[in-house]
Amino acid sequence: MNVGEQLKVERKCRSTGTVVQLWKDFDDMPWMTVCADHGGCVGHYNRRDAEGWLSHPEDWCPTCMGEEEEG
Ligand SMILES: [Zn+2]
Repeated sequence: MNVGEQLKVERKCRSTGTVVQLWKDFDDMPWMTVCADHGGCVGHYNRRDAEGWLSHPEDWCPTCMGEEEEG
């Protein structure tokens, strides 16, 4: 666990209803977007990219992506 990680943004995503988070210095990535409800995450190299991804976890959280195809 990287001691430098910082939670920068946490908000409820309108499209999925899940809580999404923006972290700085998470694991080996400078920025990381996380779907807090499902644990899905993806790394980014700059904050602008990360913020762009943050609002639509259905494009990067495996659980949000597959929500309609359970079982
Ligand atoms: Zn999700």
